[in-house]
Amino acid sequence: MSKTGGEIDRLKMLCEFSELNWLFSNSEDIRSFLDKIVQMVSKHMHAGAATVFLWNDNKEELILEATIGLNKGAIGQVRLKPGEGLTGLALLNKQPILVENADAHPQFKRIPSIHEEKFKNFLAVPILRGIMNIGVISIQREQERPFKTEDLQALTVIASQLANILENTRTHLMSDTDGRAYPLKSLQMKEGERIDGKTACTGLQSGEIFILDRERSLSMLSEEVISDEDTLEDFKKAVEKTERQLRELQTKTEELLDDTASLIFTSHLLILKDQDFIGEIHRHIQKGSKPSTAIFKVADRYMELFASNPSPFVKEKVHDVEDVILRLVGNLVKETDASINMKGRILIARELYPSDILQASSEGAAGIVLVSGGITSHISILSQSLRLPMVIVDRPELMNLAPHQRVIMDGHDDCIYVNPPKELEQRLFRERKGEDAKTGKTAVLKTTKTKDGTKITLMANVNLISDIDHAEKAHAEGVGLYRTEFPFLIRSNFPSEEEQYTLYRKICTAMRGKPVVFRTLDIGGDKILSYYQDYQERNPFLGLRSIRFSLMHRDTFREQIRAILRASGGGTLRIMFPMISSVEEFIEAKNVVIDCKKELKKEGYPLPRIVKIGMMVEVPSITEIMEDLCDYADFFSIGTNDFIQYILAVDRSNEKVAEFYLSHHPSVLRSLKRIVETAQKRNKEIAVCGEMARQELFIPFLLGIGVRVFSMGATYIPATRKLISRITLREARETATRAVQFKTCSETEVLLTETLNKIKSRN
Ligand code: PEP
Ligand code: MG
Repeated sequence: MSKTGGEIDRLKMLCEFSELNWLFSNSEDIRSFLDKIVQMVSKHMHAGAATVFLWNDNKEELILEATIGLNKGAIGQVRLKPGEGLTGLALLNKQPILVENADAHPQFKRIPSIHEEKFKNFLAVPILRGIMNIGVISIQREQERPFKTEDLQALTVIASQLANILENTRTHLMSDTDGRAYPLKSLQMKEGERIDGKTACTGLQSGEIFILDRERSLSMLSEEVISDEDTLEDFKKAVEKTERQLRELQTKTEELLDDTASLIFTSHLLILKDQDFIGEIHRHIQKGSKPSTAIFKVADRYMELFASNPSPFVKEKVHDVEDVILRLVGNLVKETDASINMKGRILIARELYPSDILQASSEGAAGIVLVSGGITSHISILSQSLRLPMVIVDRPELMNLAPHQRVIMDGHDDCIYVNPPKELEQRLFRERKGEDAKTGKTAVLKTTKTKDGTKITLMANVNLISDIDHAEKAHAEGVGLYRTEFPFLIRSNFPSEEEQYTLYRKICTAMRGKPVVFRTLDIGGDKILSYYQDYQERNPFLGLRSIRFSLMHRDTFREQIRAILRASGGGTLRIMFPMISSVEEFIEAKNVVIDCKKELKKEGYPLPRIVKIGMMVEVPSITEIMEDLCDYADFFSIGTNDFIQYILAVDRSNEKVAEFYLSHHPSVLRSLKRIVETAQKRNKEIAVCGEMARQELFIPFLLGIGVRVFSMGATYIPATRKLISRITLREARETATRAVQFKTCSETEVLLTETLNKIKSRN
């Protein structure tokens, strides 16, 4: 099989400097780094063997440092002079060597200790930095697949990236002569070391770690199964067992999350049921391959096929195949626990897909530690909906923690502890229990009033159906924001009108007549639909987002509107458009609702008696045209998350600019005041549904400018209700009047902090 352009691109991408550098800085020593390199190269270049020799300046010879496919026992032993064998020749000539029949080459020299007899095709590329010798990387294949120019190009890219990295380690390289690994950067963690981070979802959890790194788990497994004696019968049993496990997980997911039910594990099951896939493995086993080898061989081909597909959706399928293989081979070697069982464990991951979080939740993971700074808001929103504690720490090296270590994640204190001593763990859990008992004793208020008796409405933000239960428990007076995009995000295709209808109907029924505000699809920005967006936008938050996407994709928009209209029953329906930036845009979207309503009426569907059509205030342009919009919109809800990011030009999901995301900026506070006052003047309902609505610091201010409806994650409702009951409207108004007069952020911050402290200290 020849390599496609897509495969080569993927390989080049894999070998980007940053990627290799990451691999390097997370390796304990140069040997383990090179070991990962040869594994990666042999896998992606379909080479049975891959080898790296490094140049030793003192001895003026090449030393074998890493290999896969050849005898690992020869590492550190085999040494070549420049010009010796094809490898030495590549270094001497400073030129790559590509040979189809190695035995026939006059310079070829077999090295008996490395067992390379079966390989005929040979490709070696010198690793050079200017005039400096660094080493040679080579790959070998058996007869039937000669190397091509594309292979040469790809290996050259890798060699030059390796040169950049290895150049900096020459001092380490030169010190070796005894075949030991060179210590690079091992993960030094003191017992119970505290690492500070940011909490995405609160909760205190402890457990053994589970590193979510599919490639690493696969290569560990592939090493474990080298000597297996399994038969076709064993393979069949492993398939049955895997299928059973997947079905159980699917059932659990359905119980936990009925809006996303069966979506995560069906794709895994489909792979297991794919007769081409399973049949091919059978054939390899019947021809004499070991079952595990046959599985890896066939899976590699599938993964390569998916990975080279330009569609991100198809590319994502690689993870599904990896998951299935991990399970399947795990079941074959009966080592399931180490590699696949997340139950009760703390997941450590570098990046997460929504399906990873759902999977972790349904498999009973205790919590998640995300080790890169790049928190995307929908990932943390999802962890909150699932009540799965999550802490984000900017420490990628945690991916290198050795198996069986323990971690405490303290989502109340924004930190984690690695290898905590027993006493620390006991103390933290004891303290937490005390806190919970205190909270439990406070009477649960059902309605919300200010200290001077003004009625305030607290609603819940809902992302998944499972949130409804929490909303009920917190006595939410309705759903102020139902983010309809979450089921779209988790799935692998657009849900049909019928599927959406079923889902929306469940929400309405569960809320038993209380109001539900349906926000139409808000995708784009950091909420990417892998099955739709085939392109990458340069500025996704300023791109084809939200209502722009819906208006551009009318059929999808109409299906959603029809489903909402049909699901809402006979009462009052509230539909809200996100990210409206002009009057025309609102009218255009509103007309779609009017059209769909007429259409459904003709088709004989029962319809809601009243349809209220509102919009989110998220784009700063609205501040100026609010009065005009009051002519068209029935209600408003301020999405402060986006409003602040747009007014201050700060990407809300970029940790690096988080210090500029200042909700108390005078411009934010004054704009909010103008917006709320305009709506009130025109007797229009106005709510706040962004994070500001539940942040204690801003509640007096928001009450003071006239906000009477707040919508927030259900967990925040009890504390917010309690805080509001301690505030008088008079002091709230005074705070608001003073806050908008300040020129600087520090002045507004001091005022808001002092006000909050005063309120809290009163009783
Ligand atoms: C907001 O922008 O404040 C909001 C509530 O919408 P989302 O967080 O879903 O973008
Ligand atoms: Mg928003």
